Amino acid sequence: MKGPIMRALSGVAAITLAMGAAPLVAQGGPTDADLMNDAKSTGDVLTYGMGPQAHRFSSLNAINSGNVAKMVPAFSASLGGEKQRGQEAQPIVYDGTIYVTGSYSRLFAFDARTGEEKWQYDARLPDGIMPCCDVVNRGAAIYGDKIIFATLDARLVALNRNTGKVIWNKQIADYKEGYSATAAPLIVNGMVITGNSGGEFGVVGAVDARDVNTGELIWHRPVIEGHMGTLKGKDNGITGKLNATWQGDLWKSGGGATWLGGTYDPDTNLLFFGTGNPAPWNSHLRPGDNLYTASTLAIDPATGVIKWHYQTTPHDGWDFDGVNEFIPFDATINGKPMKLGAKADRNGYFFVLDRTNGKFIGAHKFVMQTTWANGFNKNGKPNYIVEGRPPAPGDAKGKPVFASPSFLGGKNWMPMAYSQDTGLFYIPSNDWGMDIWNEPIAYKKGAAYLGAGFTIKSIADDHIGALRAMDPKTGKIMWEYKNKAPLWGGVLTTGGNLVFTGTPEGFLKAFDAKTGQELWKFQTGSGVVGSPVTWEQDGEQYVAVMSGWGGAVPLWGGEVAKSFKDINQGGALWVFKLPK
Ligand code: CA
Ligand code: CA
Repeated sequence: MKGPIMRALSGVAAITLAMGAAPLVAQGGPTDADLMNDAKSTGDVLTYGMGPQAHRFSSLNAINSGNVAKMVPAFSASLGGEKQRGQEAQPIVYDGTIYVTGSYSRLFAFDARTGEEKWQYDARLPDGIMPCCDVVNRGAAIYGDKIIFATLDARLVALNRNTGKVIWNKQIADYKEGYSATAAPLIVNGMVITGNSGGEFGVVGAVDARDVNTGELIWHRPVIEGHMGTLKGKDNGITGKLNATWQGDLWKSGGGATWLGGTYDPDTNLLFFGTGNPAPWNSHLRPGDNLYTASTLAIDPATGVIKWHYQTTPHDGWDFDGVNEFIPFDATINGKPMKLGAKADRNGYFFVLDRTNGKFIGAHKFVMQTTWANGFNKNGKPNYIVEGRPPAPGDAKGKPVFASPSFLGGKNWMPMAYSQDTGLFYIPSNDWGMDIWNEPIAYKKGAAYLGAGFTIKSIADDHIGALRAMDPKTGKIMWEYKNKAPLWGGVLTTGGNLVFTGTPEGFLKAFDAKTGQELWKFQTGSGVVGSPVTWEQDGEQYVAVMSGWGGAVPLWGGEVAKSFKDINQGGALWVFKLPK
């Protein structure tokens, strides 16, 4: 017997031997070591990002650029109900079960061979929740006997993965203050690590670590300077230095929501979390760099202490949340092998940093146009274009300026992929701009805190979306695929020389990883804004993705969204394979 099941069995034997009589996880199921090994174990998908480094790369090559044109559905499973909103989840696949989260904080377990539903959990949400950008959820985390996900009322729920029964349920933050949660949790060393959402309500971004078995808080790290962190119930130092980059009391409602979660690099033992926009949007109300908003942070998983930071948009004035995934990778730069990390930011630049210390290596434009800056200097500071910042409003609506990218970003939440075969990053990007103006605003708990208005605009006749292959060593775009509607789904790349992503028009598509040639597409019946995955089961390779149009674009896209108003809603898991 070969394949993933045998490998899993031998793994269990090895752990039992190493630990003596007591197995590492009493209830069975994925261990810390399994999660860290997820990128290499092709028989399962245990983590958001398909590995803690979130490369979204599988070495599987049974489905490849030579035969993907023959790929067909194995089955589809509906999420049912009347709650058909954006389905942005990435499936988790383990031991014959596919776990997916759905809109309105639901979690489903489907049989991975037949698509039959095993159980469904619906969070009971209060009336007053304040999700900014649709009622989405991006995925679950699995550990031992548990499957864990975050809910729109800013809670974290652990369910028994076999029955769907609640094991524990903890509050991350108070939804009445504007907090919510949509990201997939990250599990490292027996801790569930989460961020928070609510950057449009003047919340304070934070990263929390909880005991995976009990849900009890281990450490709490606010990401805005001046706020106190905790470790095991005790104070553990202020973040940054009070009033260094914020004036007066503005840091108390400073934003910086960590709403997309994080990645973990076993190599440097660092967590990487991105932080959202400073609050309010109107930058004239908060002079200074406003640390640590719109930044990438490296955090010590044992203590929650910030080890380094790099701010992608100092003193942001365009809602350029810096939350995007920071992906560790190794490459040789100028003849020197380096431990690097990359992030494609909402502000339109692709950043490469030394991940051991946060040192700036390069920033490469990956969109058609950036009006707010024309590049970065060697110290990693943007060369601002002064006229690109919307002016102070006085006591009425300020003068609008045209800005690009739009606040929905050169790239938004949808995760990119990194191929170890081609050495390229595959970025789901969008080319669009906006008219933006500032307005007066005062902070009020639980109310929108923008002080700005906007209208999104197209900047090209033939597309908004563009899937781009970026060479991180040179900053060159090696190929691009243009899509009429904005791209809003994640990317997967494989050892079969393939790149997969979905479109709002309803297709899951496959491209040649080296050339960008479109090789296959399938119409799923609603827009695809989820993240595809692949795994091996019973000797065959499978690909799965969620279908269900929604997310921020139809809610915030204005004139641009009207062009896509005829896309039908839905809610389904689609699973594909080659015919036998
Ligand atoms: Ca795996
Ligand atoms: Ca934001």
